[in-house]
Amino acid sequence: MHQKEYDIVIIGGGLAGLCTALHLQRHHIRILLIEKQEYPKHRVCGEYVSNEVLPYLNTLGIDPQAHGAITISRFEISTREGETIESDLPLGGFGISRYALDKLLFDALDSSTNVLFDTAVSITYLNDEFTVLTQNKKAVKCRFVVGSFGKRSLLDKRLGRDFINKRTHWMAVKAHYDFDFPEDMVALHNFEGGYCGLSKTETGAVNACYLTTLKSFNKANGIEDFQKTIMSKNKKLDYFFKNARQIFEKSLSISQISFAKKSVIHNHIFMLGDSAGLIHPLCGNGMAMAIHAAKIFSEIYLEEIHQKNSDREVLESAYQNMWKTTFSERLRAGARIQRLLLNDTASAFTYKAISRFPSILPYVIRKTHGSLMV
Ligand SMILES: Cc1cc2nc3c(=O)[nH]c(=O)nc-3n(C[C@H](O)[C@H](O)[C@H](O)COP(=O)(O)OP(=O)(O)OC[C@H]3O[C@@H](n4cnc5c(N)ncnc54)[C@H](O)[C@@H]3O)c2cc1C
Repeated sequence: MHQKEYDIVIIGGGLAGLCTALHLQRHHIRILLIEKQEYPKHRVCGEYVSNEVLPYLNTLGIDPQAHGAITISRFEISTREGETIESDLPLGGFGISRYALDKLLFDALDSSTNVLFDTAVSITYLNDEFTVLTQNKKAVKCRFVVGSFGKRSLLDKRLGRDFINKRTHWMAVKAHYDFDFPEDMVALHNFEGGYCGLSKTETGAVNACYLTTLKSFNKANGIEDFQKTIMSKNKKLDYFFKNARQIFEKSLSISQISFAKKSVIHNHIFMLGDSAGLIHPLCGNGMAMAIHAAKIFSEIYLEEIHQKNSDREVLESAYQNMWKTTFSERLRAGARIQRLLLNDTASAFTYKAISRFPSILPYVIRKTHGSLMV
């Protein structure tokens, strides 16, 4: 068994984990990042990133625009039938595939960050020290663990987290397409049981990513049939699926997506990004929240180290409080909007209200987004 001492072990190299490593590596913190998959890799995600993270990404040496990210400033939302309402996006955002973005962040890590491509299978805490075990039987000791292992991981089960045993009724599908679509637009089209986001990525491909209830999906016979028979009742999606050419050989799909409340600290592990809580994807803010959580954690951690305290209790309560102050209201607003949009009567009423008073839309968007991170 291999043993080495680290200050922090980061489990999961998605946006939250990679940004934490990028932030801390500049301060000579001994980091080990454990990630189970090689880069680059496509992920099921809407691939619209709120501009609120740009200043922070720039401080980490990341410039998505220089790598082809597309500037998005307009938002379109449609009813189940395909009636649309358009609005400017208050802060705007950019379109970049996770294939490119995660690789961009990974490539920016310097040699001081140790990366282990392996799956963490257990985390134990004893006498102020963690031991992380991996599938390939590595045992790593460290003082702090960051849990940035995403929406759902086998670690959640091993750690006995409450949300993991609750049944969920959500699944999501994504693929890239060749299609004539405005560069500066992100669209959200509703259909029975879900909604589908469309926006361009750095390759010029349109990413179509949808979230749906299993109840709705099971009315059809697989992905293609679902797109044809249920989603295409929305005339916008009908036009899209009839005219777009799928670039991916096969659509990617995930299930068991949970929006349940999660613990921000679990058994002294600092949870970041989706591991701490997943915002409803229609808000297009989960990636920004994951990146923002990395900043919050890193700053609090560095402050404690700087004061030569690194008192675990102080750190935990500072992180938990800051996380709640920054994200709790956003998560609640996201849940309210999702309930509204997926309820037949309420959504019809909401669309009518928004068409009469279009300024409601930017107001609603602001409720689920933060301001520029500086
Ligand atoms: C359908 C859908 C559409 C979305 N669309 C958008 C959007 O348009 N805009 C937006 O901002 N957000 C969107 N989101 C949310 C966004 O995808 C997430 O909030 C974001 O990816 C969270 O980043 P993360 O770093 O927390 O997790 P992830 O990016 O999921 O990274 C977790 C990492 O942990 C690794 N891992 C897991 N378990 C282990 C283990 N045991 N050992 C080692 N490694 C492990 C995984 O391989 C992965 O690399 C969407 C989500 C869904 C479901």
